[in-house]
Amino acid sequence: PIYLDYNATTPCDEAVLEAMLPYFCTTFGNAASMFGLHGWNAYQAVEQARAQLAHSIGGQPKEIVFTSGATESNNLGIRGVFRACKNKGKHIITSSIEHPSILMTLKDLECKGARISYIDPLPDGSFDIERLKELITNETILITVMYANNELGTINPIHEIAAIAQKNDILFMSDATQALGKIHIDLQQCPIDILTCSAHKIYGPKGVGALYLRNQQGKRVVDLLPQITGGGSEQGMRGGTLNVPGIVGFGKAAEIACLALKNGELERIAQQRNKLEQELSILNNVQINGCTDSRLPHVSNISFKNTDGKKLLSMLKKSISVSTGSACSSSSLSPSHVLAAIGLPDDLAQATIRFSLGKKTTDQEIDFTLAEVKRVLRMTAPHLSYE
Ligand code: PLP
Repeated sequence: PIYLDYNATTPCDEAVLEAMLPYFCTTFGNAASMFGLHGWNAYQAVEQARAQLAHSIGGQPKEIVFTSGATESNNLGIRGVFRACKNKGKHIITSSIEHPSILMTLKDLECKGARISYIDPLPDGSFDIERLKELITNETILITVMYANNELGTINPIHEIAAIAQKNDILFMSDATQALGKIHIDLQQCPIDILTCSAHKIYGPKGVGALYLRNQQGKRVVDLLPQITGGGSEQGMRGGTLNVPGIVGFGKAAEIACLALKNGELERIAQQRNKLEQELSILNNVQINGCTDSRLPHVSNISFKNTDGKKLLSMLKKSISVSTGSACSSSSLSPSHVLAAIGLPDDLAQATIRFSLGKKTTDQEIDFTLAEVKRVLRMTAPHLSYE
């Protein structure tokens, strides 16, 4: 089948795999045991990866903490701030269309005394900046808003949010898991305090992520309390022996992603996405979700009205891998919280597809997808609905 689900995960780049391989059997040392050459070589490799990742986002190597993925990074960022700032306040502001790793963590903190304000998106999925300004209080310790939404692909006004947070002396965290490698991120230009990301969304290995924590005048903006305790690795913020091959792969993937942003690859993918979207949107009963002015180049979220959504998707999945309803956890059949938040009724949410393209997507695959979607629509919708 054709793969158009690059927001769920990406295939590991061959060059990434090649960079990782020596660190399984040959340079297998423990990066924390630097007295012997084995450990020293592993340590050097981790530090190179730290520099590669830092460079790709305009940060410094010492501002990077490696984790097991964006889920863990989001937990570390939110729980770490909540525990570190409890003397200042317990109020956190977020958006209602964050990834579950943010929303579920915040729900858990609610049980521990946090007060959370959720900002609903505007109907086109964009961020309601006026609402943010209204919600800030003296008790607010953290604003956490994703860089780009995984289901709609909409990009949030991160610079504006960061400036508001900075003016009010509130920490600002952004989940950049879907933005890294797709749009230019420069933390020198944008005062984000905490940024989280994951290797497997940028053609790196699964099970590796990172958290960026800003240093100001040589000092961390906040001392995150570790969530995984044990040992002093990652500057005491995350215990455990480092996943050296995974981290090396993440560094290489970040370096390649940086080049891809400069060499026109994303423009090519955007053209394919636009073709797919344009040819489908001329049909009746098709609706594109999410503001198209500020969107990731490779994502299209499309609803098909007046058709049997479940049938449509079960027929389509034989030939094309895409996401439906909820993205990262499509195993749950309940309609996506993101689509509900932008006002889609349940039945329309069920008949919604997220296409996410990537560097291996070919023009032929887009042509095939168009033909296949139209063929399946003819079989699942009443006569002439999609003419
Ligand atoms: N945040 C966003 C926006 C995502 O899309 C994902 C995807 O799964 C995650 C966090 C979780 O990342 P990971 O799989 O590295 O835990």
